Amino acid sequence: DNNKEHACVYFLPIYAPGHLISMLEVAKGILQCNSTPSNTISIHILLTQPENSDKASPVSSYLQSLQTENLPIHLHPLPFVEPPHQFHCIEDFVTSHIRLYLPHIKAALSASPSPVSGLVVDMFASNVISVANELNIPTYIYFSSTATFLSLTLHLSSLQGKKDPINFSEVEEEICIPGLMPIPSKSMPDPLLDMKSASYKCFMYHAHRYIEAKGFIINSNIHIETKAVEALTQGVTDQLRPGTKFPEIYPVGPVISFGKSNVQEHECLQWLDRQPAKSVLFLCFGSMGAFDMSQVRQIAIGLEQSGHRFLWVLRMPNTEFLRGSIDANLEILPEGFVERTKGRGLVWPSWAPQIDILSHQAIGGFVTHCGWNSILESLWFGVPMIPWPLYAEQHLNAFMLVNEIHVAVKLEVDRKNKGFVSAMDLKQAIKQLMDPGSEEGIRTRVRVEEMMSACRKAVQRGGVSSVYLQKLAAELGKV
Ligand code: UDP
Repeated sequence: DNNKEHACVYFLPIYAPGHLISMLEVAKGILQCNSTPSNTISIHILLTQPENSDKASPVSSYLQSLQTENLPIHLHPLPFVEPPHQFHCIEDFVTSHIRLYLPHIKAALSASPSPVSGLVVDMFASNVISVANELNIPTYIYFSSTATFLSLTLHLSSLQGKKDPINFSEVEEEICIPGLMPIPSKSMPDPLLDMKSASYKCFMYHAHRYIEAKGFIINSNIHIETKAVEALTQGVTDQLRPGTKFPEIYPVGPVISFGKSNVQEHECLQWLDRQPAKSVLFLCFGSMGAFDMSQVRQIAIGLEQSGHRFLWVLRMPNTEFLRGSIDANLEILPEGFVERTKGRGLVWPSWAPQIDILSHQAIGGFVTHCGWNSILESLWFGVPMIPWPLYAEQHLNAFMLVNEIHVAVKLEVDRKNKGFVSAMDLKQAIKQLMDPGSEEGIRTRVRVEEMMSACRKAVQRGGVSSVYLQKLAAELGKV
């Protein structure tokens, strides 16, 4: 239709699977909403690729599959920019790297074939707002984590303003943020543990910029995080300055990438096919989770003594900074462990098809590092959890799972001792969740099944998240 106007929506993800994939799933969702109205939307993705991107990495294979889907999605790889050599923490590294890309981002936006109706940027790319403002383009922050973490971030300066800088790992107190459940200091996200740290300052910087955005797109919804979503809807923050308006919020979650499953033959799934319904505990720790030898032994003992069936994705730390985990060598397992647990346990030493595993009827529980994507996937398939937080905001997520959403049983994680978990504590948590007679296990399972149906309804036509996505698509369709 020639009368239709054409809007270009730009996306700037960072090159990390937990951030990029769900962000681009939102892009696809926007296109689906936009199939009939008067304006058409095309999606343009600005890509900050590493110099030698591994073709088999989750991000690369996701981007390759996007291009085969025949959608109006165009990839624009930005010129390579040498990563910063000096940085204080990973958040600072990512933020500084994006800053070095700004001239290229500006050039790409300026070269757009049609008017740019919006720019959606990763939560660590808020410095792009300055460029977008110069070009009069409204910016939306894609927050791939929780509404709770966003609320907390938006209150960092008043937390800091109150008293001397606190190191939360050294105090016992509750952090009270308007509209949120009080957060115990030991559940504060890693980067926010110490007010004097570079990572805390980095989040303060982003919070300060966030408020200039037109909107927040959040991978959550009012059923999962009732209080935090309400607080954000009411614009509760300490960041508002004269002349600024609190950004619109679009809680569109859960946004999950189901992929095109051709993994039917995967060994893990074949093995699960031979297990009874809801009998297997799944252990998987995200794209970067890995343990040292002594911790691996404790896990093995805990699993063996629990008596339950398990599928354990075991990976080892990579010594190179920022590269995450690498495939494990099964020789690090205690002697005889594999033989003794043969038939009831499988250790998988490499990347596993997590979505397909969680959707399998044999899965009865999930020991998770509490990456937000993993949590949403578990809710989607109604799998109750045992939280074992490792990095980023995962300790806060773990706290929410147990105390607010009630879809997990607690595991004792010793944060003062590198996050150590003893075999006995692991065994106890497993039994609480998986033993057929365990009341807590039954309660948790009932609750997670309620969340499963709430999440599925939310994204169906007319559901709470779907309505927000429609609203966003309508906004972005305007030129
Ligand atoms: N994942 C997977 N196989 C693995 C490990 C992770 O498919 O062996 C997927 C998982 O399903 C999720 C993503 O990788 O979609 C990890 O994202 P999350 O936010 O949970 O954690 P992060 O890796 O960002 O810490």
